[in-house]
Amino acid sequence: MLSRNLDVQCSWCGKDSALGEWNDATYAKCTNREMKRAFVPLTDKRAFLRKTDSFYICPKCLQWSRGSQLRIVHTDDRALHKLGGESIITIVSNSNE
Ligand SMILES: [Zn+2]
Repeated sequence: MLSRNLDVQCSWCGKDSALGEWNDATYAKCTNREMKRAFVPLTDKRAFLRKTDSFYICPKCLQWSRGSQLRIVHTDDRALHKLGGESIITIVSNSNE
């Protein structure tokens, strides 16, 4: 389990927000039961893997990023640095809005 207090950097605006804020902002966008069931909490390391194919909304700029594009910053833990950090190569669109 990852701490909700970790700082997660947005690949769009470059600002960081607490992992818990990302998690809650995204969960709040899950409008139906299917979405809530499919939601992978950011506290789960799998959220940062490309194959998980889950998206999270930035609490600051409200752009969606794939979990694998997020970056954990302000930590000395090398294992955490290895998570995510993929560059944005595809335009992310949210068909639910
Ligand atoms: Zn952002």
